[in-house]
Parts: sequence; structure tokens; C-alpha cells
Amino acid sequence: MTIILDGKSLRNKILSELKNKLDKFEKKPTLVVILVGENPASKIYVNNKKKTAESLGINSIVINYPDNIEENILLTKIEELNKAPDITAILVQLPLPKHIDKSKIINTISPQKDVDGFTPYNFGRLFEGEEPFVYPCTPKGIIRLLDEYKIPLEGQHAVIVGRSNIVGKPLSQMLLNRNATVTICHSRTKNLAEITKTADILISAVGGKIIGKNMLKSNCVVVDVGIFKDENGKTRGDIDFKNVAPVASYISPVPGGVGPMTIAMLMSNTVELFEKTIK
Ligand code: NAP
Repeated sequence: MTIILDGKSLRNKILSELKNKLDKFEKKPTLVVILVGENPASKIYVNNKKKTAESLGINSIVINYPDNIEENILLTKIEELNKAPDITAILVQLPLPKHIDKSKIINTISPQKDVDGFTPYNFGRLFEGEEPFVYPCTPKGIIRLLDEYKIPLEGQHAVIVGRSNIVGKPLSQMLLNRNATVTICHSRTKNLAEITKTADILISAVGGKIIGKNMLKSNCVVVDVGIFKDENGKTRGDIDFKNVAPVASYISPVPGGVGPMTIAMLMSNTVELFEKTIK
């Protein structure tokens, strides 16, 4: 029988544990989200983050800049937030407009306040196999989901489709650090299906319907990170859920799988950074 990796229930459990923890603190953490422009998807994500943070008692500040904001103004604001003792965590919502150098912006965030774990210091620590201040939210959420269902990672062949800095690359390191054998595929990979068929754990982070039933071995664990709108405006993942689910041992749905875990890990990272400042 196929087991659904239920990210929604696990998110609720994690948020409730975080709320209990925060209720015991007199002072609360503050999460600042910087949003540039009017991208409708980004606005929805930022709103969700704000609402979730506030439901836990985390102070949430959204700074919204117009699309044509100068890079220097953003850099100065981040430097100011880095120095502010009351600010726990800083997140710059991606994507940024083309005239802004994304790396320069991310690199300016203090690693101690880098709630996404994207700064070179935190990324470098992860790739060294050492503890960063916090781990990137989506990969952390995927590993937490697999752990919740007691899915073994050590010695397993994990195939990741997608090599972005947000998902594929950090996830590959986190799985390696847990002694999985990792293969990363991307748009130039030849014979993708031949590789995915060797996966014990298949994780797809592409943003298009690319994984069908004939691309995996039976009883494989399948994690779908992709999110996109189909031609009817319906939210979809990379995996052909209906046909893949019967041959998988575990599978994460879209929506309700990795998405809720990402937001739970953002909250968890905010609390972790806060606890580190207290210590
Ligand atoms: P991205 O930066 O666009 O990366 C997509 C990756 O997919 C790239 O590495 C690309 O290869 C690869 N790819 C594209 N077409 C392919 C194909 N036909 N075969 C194999 N690989 C292919 O995207 P991202 O930021 O990682 O996000 C990926 C998806 O996950 C999106 O749908 C995004 O919305 C979703 N996402 C969800 C969450 C969540 O919380 N659920 C979080 C983050 C992202 P190249 O490198 O060669 O171009």
C-alpha cells in the first residue's frame, strides 16, 4: 500500500510545538521579509509567511519596495537590519528584479540572521559537512518529512532532478551528510529515465510535469517539490501522481507535501536563530 507523505499534518504538528516553545519565552523573535515589486506569487508567499509567523507569536515585518528600487537602498537596509539587536531573521523574497544583483544582496545578510541559509558562509558550512547557523528551508523540510516516516537514507540511492541553489544543490549535500548516495540530474542530463529508475528515493524539483510511471522502479520513495499551474490554472507538481502513486512506496502530494514543510522550516529556523542569540 502506498503511504502519502503528509506535509500538511506534519507542518501543523511542528507549528504547534514551536508555538508551545515560544509561549514560554517572554521576548519573541522578529522576522523581517524584504519584498521587491508586485510579483503576485511572491506576494502570496510573503503573506503566508507573515500570517504563519504571527500565529506563533513571532513578530513579522514586511518591507515592500517598488520594482525600480536602487540596489544601494536595499544593501543599506540589510546592513541596518544586520546591526539591529531586535531583528532575529532576515529573508529576501526571490526572485528579485533583473537590475539587482541577487548574490550581492544575499551575501550582505549576516549569516547569523540568514533564515534561508543561503549566504556563502552558511552554504559553505553545509558543503563542508559542518553545521551552518540554519539549513535551507525546502531541503530541510524534505529531510524532516522523510525522517517523520522513518525512511532510511543511509546507503540509499537518492536521485534529485533539479540543481538549483534553493533545492537541488543544498539537498544533495544534506543527503550526502546522511550517507545517502546522491545523483543530481538537470536539463542537460542524458537518458533521465534510466537514472531515475535506479533511485531508491526520487526527488523532483523542476516545475513541469516530467516524472511518469515508467521512470521509477517499484516501491521507490517519491518526493515532489515542483509547483506550477497547468493550462486550467490548477496547481500541479512534477510527478504524474495518479499513475506514479500505485507503484511508489511513499509519495508526497502537491499541494500538501513539501510546500507546507518549507514554511514550517522557515518558522523553525527563525526560532533556532532566536535561541542562538539567547545562548
Ligand atoms: P529552478 O531554479 O528553475 O531549477 C529547476 C531545475 O530543473 C534546474 O536545475 C533545471 O536544469 C531542471 N530542469 C528543467 N527542465 C528539466 C528537464 N526537462 N529535465 C531535467 N531537469 C530539468 O527552480 P527551483 O527554484 O529549484 O524550483 C523548482 C520547482 O520547485 C519549481 O516548481 C518551484 O516552484 C518549486 N519549489 C517548491 C518549493 C516548495 O516549498 N514546495 C520550494 C522551492 C521551489 P538546468 O539547471 O539545467 O536549467
